[in-house]
Amino acid sequence: MLTGKTAIVTGASRGIGAAIARKLCEAGSNVVICSRSDEAVAAIADALNSEGYTAISTAADISRKGDVEALVKTTLGRFSQIDILVNNAGITRDTLLMRLKDEDWDAVLQTNLTGTMYCTRAVLRPMIRQRSGRIINISSVIGVMGNPGQASYAAAKAGILGFTKTIAREVGVRGITVNAIAPGFITTDMTAQIPEQHQNQLLDLIPLRRFGGPEDVADAVCFLASDAARYITGQTLHVDGGMVM
Ligand code: NAD
Repeated sequence: MLTGKTAIVTGASRGIGAAIARKLCEAGSNVVICSRSDEAVAAIADALNSEGYTAISTAADISRKGDVEALVKTTLGRFSQIDILVNNAGITRDTLLMRLKDEDWDAVLQTNLTGTMYCTRAVLRPMIRQRSGRIINISSVIGVMGNPGQASYAAAKAGILGFTKTIAREVGVRGITVNAIAPGFITTDMTAQIPEQHQNQLLDLIPLRRFGGPEDVADAVCFLASDAARYITGQTLHVDGGMVM
């Protein structure tokens, strides 16, 4: 249980982030959720609050350092502590490397990797003060296996794994754990564009023979955020139906 804890979830206006926010609330946590525009994420917070949970929404673009600092300030202003950070926000700009534009590479790295760094760095001070904290970074099966057309995304998601291990080593002595989750193919807006024929080919690579749902990832987040995971740090938990073994 996460009763009385405070969690920040980035990119929570839909998909996996929205499911993580909901599961954290169900486990007893207060949540501060963000996405680039306030409207969609406010609707998620309203729904949670109307069910008796405590959710605060704010517009924050994690690729901007100032937005991230404001997000952390808002959280501390309201709850005085940050127990859990879930670095979930992410984007894709897929194309083969031959056709890849510099600005698309930069956008993916800036959001997926630098944004994760900004958020992590910003919560370390309060977590160190508390001598406790849980940081959970959402990577991807693509960061482990690679995928044609996803060089920027794969580089950013693989970068998150190296980042996770390094920060786990830096702050373990402060009582903070840092872990990554590498989801496989999860049914969300991000994967909705995959053509049906390709989706069927992908199913053959998944021993459990189904795509995951956002709640499959959210349950893994709740586990890593819970006391049950107190002796786990620097790890990558694969939530992919067995794609990577
Ligand atoms: P999604 O596109 O449905 O949702 C992404 C969320 O991130 C949205 O709320 C969006 O507004 C937000 N976001 C994007 N850029 C942002 C920014 N700069 N600042 C703040 N918020 C921002 O994606 P999803 O499928 O729910 O994926 C969530 C995470 O899981 C991503 O990091 C993604 O890479 C990862 N992932 C997804 C899958 C999958 O199959 N869907 C697989 C592996 C990993």
